[in-house]
Amino acid sequence: MSVKFYNTLSRKKENFSPIHKKEVRMYTCGPTVYNYTHIGNLRAYVFADVLQKTLEYSGYEVKRVMNITDIGHLSSDADSGDDKMTKGLLREGKELNLKNMRGLAEFYTEKFKEDLNKLNIKIPSHIYFASDHIKEDTELIGKLEENKYTYKTNDGIYFDTSKMPDYGVLWGGKRERNEDHARIAENKEKKNPEDFALWKFNEKIGFESPWGKGFPGWHIECSAMSLKFLGEQFDIHTGGIDLIPTHHTNEIAQSECATGKKPFVRFWMHNEFVDTGSEKMSKSAGNFLKLDSLSEKNISPTTYRFWLLMASYRTKVNFVWEALEGAETALKRLFNLYLELGDEIGQIHHESQHKFKGFITDDLDTPRALTVLWDVLKNESISPADKKATVLDFDKVLGLGFADLKEAKEISIPEEVSKLIKAREEARKNKDFQKSDELRKEINYLGYEIKDTGDGQKVSRI
Ligand code: AMP
Ligand code: ZN
Repeated sequence: MSVKFYNTLSRKKENFSPIHKKEVRMYTCGPTVYNYTHIGNLRAYVFADVLQKTLEYSGYEVKRVMNITDIGHLSSDADSGDDKMTKGLLREGKELNLKNMRGLAEFYTEKFKEDLNKLNIKIPSHIYFASDHIKEDTELIGKLEENKYTYKTNDGIYFDTSKMPDYGVLWGGKRERNEDHARIAENKEKKNPEDFALWKFNEKIGFESPWGKGFPGWHIECSAMSLKFLGEQFDIHTGGIDLIPTHHTNEIAQSECATGKKPFVRFWMHNEFVDTGSEKMSKSAGNFLKLDSLSEKNISPTTYRFWLLMASYRTKVNFVWEALEGAETALKRLFNLYLELGDEIGQIHHESQHKFKGFITDDLDTPRALTVLWDVLKNESISPADKKATVLDFDKVLGLGFADLKEAKEISIPEEVSKLIKAREEARKNKDFQKSDELRKEINYLGYEIKDTGDGQKVSRI
């Protein structure tokens, strides 16, 4: 079965095959760790996780690299404004030095990894701090200098975009200036508005380099790390759509002008945004929804993952609490259907698997893949044991955690509900079926469902 992905570079869906026969090499832009990741950011990692799992499901091995931006990212993606890590230190009342910067980064990286775990996201095998790759950054800048793509201004070393005829290929042919580019024209020494910093001078704090003390530009870390771990050309690069006009455009410029090899990346894949409307969602504004904020409202991390999978990664989604509550109910229903299947695991239902594979390898069509999951669970001609095997197979990609549901069978029941259950048991013993029905309604009203089985009453959440 062919695997097709939408490629931002060509603006169309293309058949995918890796450069190295069985191994797919993939790079994901990681978070800037000056604050908690918000649920919008997490969509970028759920998407990349489903992508990795789809490739593995299709028989490929995946070598995956992710950077952690712990230095060099300014408020504007295009070299202006305050340094984000510095802002983070100021916010937390910490002295500005490299040690504290690293401490801040480690704290928020741990929190980020905890969120990945909660969302059943496989943490990439290669995940590194940008600040551990200064040598690779300076070597790459040196190469660009040698190839005559750089110039010096008062505040740093810049890349001269006019020297690269096809600068901006990711923009889809239009050399349109984004907001950031317009704003950065404020640096009068820049030769072209799109030129960007490879190294920024900073006398007070920073790393040593052949050009003076300072920090690497934000974009260079991803070029340097991907070149180091994945080679001069590799298969897939992912990130959110906001990275297209500046960060990814500049990664292409740096990498291709240093190595002379095009294309640096075969497939550029981007997830659309989670739009929160009234709920602010900006790390820099400091007011945003974290994964834990969802749990406080009884929306589990798995529900968030499930809700994201209900839309294509290329569709903008609007975060509304009611929609998440609806997803929570639907997911519980799926889990309950699964838990009723018994313990035996049979054979994968091949016809359903074929359909599922067809959808998921068609540019990760998770909404349609989920319809196959529902169909399997509701199909009366498939035995419970075969249903179970098929669901577990799909879950290798979906990552909803069906295999771990056993423990969840023991659900915690509030005392109020327990009392009603006991009273109902009594009523049934006394053959008072009217009372028993009334009690069932009360139990339902509190969000629990009751089933009468040979082993007595079985309780589950609605
Ligand atoms: P950052 O930590 O800002 O560097 O962003 C980490 C990742 O989250 C990047 O891939 C961004 O493109 C992505 N991202 C940021 N905001 C959103 C959002 N609201 N929805 C989806 N992805 C986002
Ligand atoms: Zn990046």
